[in-house]
Amino acid sequence: MQRKIKYCVANWKMNFNSTQSKEYLDSIRSKIFKRNNIKIIIASSFIDIAMNSKYLSNNISFAAQNVFYKSQGAYTGEISCNMLKEVNCNWVIIGHSERRAIFHESNEIINKKLTKVINEKLSPILCIGETEEERNQNKTLEILTSQLLTAFNGISYDKINNIKLAYEPVWAIGTGNTANFDIIDDTHKIIRNILLKNGYNGYDIPILYGGSVNEKNAKELAEIKNVDGFLIGGASLEVEKFYSIYNNL
Ligand code: PEP
Repeated sequence: MQRKIKYCVANWKMNFNSTQSKEYLDSIRSKIFKRNNIKIIIASSFIDIAMNSKYLSNNISFAAQNVFYKSQGAYTGEISCNMLKEVNCNWVIIGHSERRAIFHESNEIINKKLTKVINEKLSPILCIGETEEERNQNKTLEILTSQLLTAFNGISYDKINNIKLAYEPVWAIGTGNTANFDIIDDTHKIIRNILLKNGYNGYDIPILYGGSVNEKNAKELAEIKNVDGFLIGGASLEVEKFYSIYNNL
């Protein structure tokens, strides 16, 4: 059921101040969205999440790029699920490779965040993906299995069905080195098999692809049967490029 919808997710990372965010959102709001089956989700900096809510529409929702797994308290620098909900930010990206690599987020921390986000009834986009070294050592299956199963630990099967996954090979993020058609196709099938083998609904859980998607390769990548949308970093920073990717999905 869920897989009738495609997802076009912009990850702005640590880009755009409030003036730039507003300019972007004004510009995207002036576009015509003809594709009712595509959900646009924009992950801005925390600072702009409250302002974004006035741009919410049938076509556009907002995501946080991260969240903490506690409800409140002495956690300097962190943001809670409740804070996001209050400003109508209903989506959260969890386990982005930059958070894993730069901020040392382990699979166990990601499991705590995923559990919290689900319990708070926010919608998670869980990122998984192997490094180049892991792929070269034929460890992709092992890495994806442990990322998924550790992240899912203790979460009931029915709740796992509400998760969206983003397969983002680390070697393809921000490098211009997009995974090719066959790698994405194969790896998305591998992910579905991991889900099925472990009792999850591997047919229905949407799997987005992320890693140097741009306005030139979007059309070809969108044709891969197992791709339910894109998570886009660099190319999402230009409205025209992002809009063109949306139109090719
Ligand atoms: C990302 O940040 O999730 C990403 C896929 O970045 P890029 O599109 O720049 O590779």
